[in-house]
Amino acid sequence: MSIASEISRIQAELKPFSTRLIVVTKTRSIGELLETHATGALDFGENRVQEMVEKQALLPADVRWHQIGHLQTNKVKYIAPFIHLIHSVDSLKLLTEINAQAKKNNRTIDCLLQMFIAQEETKFGLDKGELFDLLNDPSFAELENIRIQGLMGMASFTSDQTQIAREFQSLQAIFQELQKEKIGESTGLVNWKELSMGMSGDYLLAAAHGSTLVRVGSAIFGERK
Ligand SMILES: *Cc1c(COP(=O)(O)O)cnc(C)c1O
Repeated sequence: MSIASEISRIQAELKPFSTRLIVVTKTRSIGELLETHATGALDFGENRVQEMVEKQALLPADVRWHQIGHLQTNKVKYIAPFIHLIHSVDSLKLLTEINAQAKKNNRTIDCLLQMFIAQEETKFGLDKGELFDLLNDPSFAELENIRIQGLMGMASFTSDQTQIAREFQSLQAIFQELQKEKIGESTGLVNWKELSMGMSGDYLLAAAHGSTLVRVGSAIFGERK
């Protein structure tokens, strides 16, 4: 199966849900990224800053780069000039640094807040209480060069579809509450628009639970080495 046929198959599956595909290109070669770009897919997800920066320099300028992995504060400056969306914001400290680097580059950087939904110790993210604390912190309202566009979450690493569905359901419920109550919107910095959840093994389940963005790698390129 070619990259192009896998991408068009997945896009066709997602279409009834209006869910958009982010092609997760981490560990893939420049040749594979160029082949992806040639299909017209422009949203690329990477989880390591150095790898993204190296690839960004070699790919056409119309690629929209998504930071999907954990981001260290001291690395923000390298992606601030071009990043399209940072999915993995899990602290006010990180958000403050993103704001500072966005300002330096004369731009506004779109971000998602990463929520912890898995039954695992290893996953990053905020719980609901921490999310509200962040949004209600007086210093949050001063971050004029960031925009919160929604939430991101990663389900547990399990083949138990019932458990994954439960975790997606819990994130969707929080997202809908934020939308309904317009939480944080009075700051002018928040727009509850995007819900980033779902990967190769569960993107259709995620789409059925209201995901607007799925992050898919191995279903397109094969298993990572
Ligand atoms: C690697 C990765 C993905 C894609 O995983 P696949 O199983 O290859 O689809 C999605 N989201 C994040 C945060 C990742 O690190």
